[in-house]
Amino acid sequence: MENHKREMIAFEKALDMVITSVKPLSTGHVTLFNALNNVLAEDVFSDIDMPPFNKSAMDGFACRFEDLKNELEIVDEIPAGTVPSKTIGLNQCARIMTGAVVPKGADFVLMKEYAELISSNKIHCTKETSKANICYKGEDVKKGDLVLKIGMLLAPSHIAILASVGKYNPLVYKMPLVAIISTGNELVEPNEIPKPEQIRNSNSYQLVSQLMKMGIPSDYLGIVEDNEQAVHDIMISALSKYDVIIVSGGVSVGDYDFVPAVLNQLGADIIVHGMKVKPGKHLLVARLSDKIIIGLPGNPVSSYVQFEVFVKQLIFKLMGSNQQPIILNLPIDEDYSRKKTDQLFFIPVNFSATGTVVPLEYHGSAHIHSFTKAVGIMEIPVGISEIKKGELVRVRPL
Ligand code: AMP
Ligand code: MG
Repeated sequence: MENHKREMIAFEKALDMVITSVKPLSTGHVTLFNALNNVLAEDVFSDIDMPPFNKSAMDGFACRFEDLKNELEIVDEIPAGTVPSKTIGLNQCARIMTGAVVPKGADFVLMKEYAELISSNKIHCTKETSKANICYKGEDVKKGDLVLKIGMLLAPSHIAILASVGKYNPLVYKMPLVAIISTGNELVEPNEIPKPEQIRNSNSYQLVSQLMKMGIPSDYLGIVEDNEQAVHDIMISALSKYDVIIVSGGVSVGDYDFVPAVLNQLGADIIVHGMKVKPGKHLLVARLSDKIIIGLPGNPVSSYVQFEVFVKQLIFKLMGSNQQPIILNLPIDEDYSRKKTDQLFFIPVNFSATGTVVPLEYHGSAHIHSFTKAVGIMEIPVGISEIKKGELVRVRPL
C-alpha cells in the first residue's frame, strides 16, 4: 500500500493534521459527581460574590482595630451560619467563629490565641498584631465573573468552583466510547501459559489503564487473528458502536499486517500512517464518517509512548479540549549521543533529586520493563545527535 500517505512525515505535522481534522463530540449535562475528567462545553460565570460577605478567617474576637490597646467587652457571640445582631462599638467585641459574618462596626478579628480573658465578659490583646483576619466580600470572585472557560478539562479544584457558583449540572462534551482490540496470531491472554512461540497480550491492558487514568472507560473486544476477514469483521462490529477504535498491532509493513488494507477497503480516510519517530513510527490514524480508528504498533513501548504523546492529544480534542502536554526544559544529567538523527526519539527518563534528567537504560521498543521506572519521556529532536551534560532537554512528566 505504498501511496503518498505512506510517506513518513514529521511527528508534529502528523499530530497537527490529526488534530485539525477532528471535531469535538456532542455535549450533555453531567452531575458534579460525574464531572471529573470531562471538558466544559460552556463558559461558567459566578452567580455570587465569593466570599458572599465579610467573613472571619479565624476563631477570635471581632472588634475595632483602634480599640486593640484597650480592654474589650464581649457583647455578642457569632457562630458560622448566623446573622450578627449587634453593631460593635467603642471598646466592644463579639466572640466570632471562622466562617461567620463579621458584624457591623468591626474592622478586625483578633485571633483567639492573642486574646486573654480577664473576666467572664472582658478580654485584652496580648500581642501586637495588624492582620485583619477578614476575607472581604467578593475578594476572590465577583458576581458575574467568568470563573471557568469552555474547553477546561475538569480537575477537582474546578469541580469546587462549579459547586461554589451553583453549577450543579455543568454542560460538558461527551467522552468518546472507546474500543480496544489487539491483533496477533502470537498473542495469548495474561491468564494463559504461552507456548514457546507465543506472547502474552499486554497492550490491551496497558491501553485500558492509560484511558482509565484519563477517566475514560473503554471496552476490550479481545484478540483478533492476523487474517483480513477477522480484522474486517471486528472492525465492522466496532464501528457500529464506538466513537474511537484503538487497534494494537498489525499496522506496519509485514505480510500479516492487515489493518491498513481493511481500512482502505472500508473506505476510511487514512490521515496519518507513518511518522519519523521512534518508537511508534507506523502509527496509523484514520477516519470513517465520524469514527476515529487508531492503529498503534504492537511493540508495548511503541503503544505506550504513542498513546501518551499522540493519542491523548487526539482524545482531548474529541472531548473539546486543546489541553497541551506539560513539557519541561531541564538539564540532562549525562552526555547523550546517537548515530541516526532522522527521527524524533522518545526516551524513558527519571529525575534526580537536583532536577536533572537521567536517561534510563533502554533497549528499544520491545522492552516495556524499562518504562516501569520512568517518570518522564525525553524528546531527542530530529537532527540532534549529541547532547552534552547540563544542556536543556524537553521532558514530558508521566
Ligand atoms: P506488530 O505491530 O503486530 O508487528 O507487533 C510488533 C511486536 O509487538 C511483535 O513482537 C508482537 O509480538 C508484539 N505485540 C503485538 N501486539 C502485542 C500485544 N497486544 N501485547 C504485547 N506485545 C504485542
Ligand atoms: Mg502483529
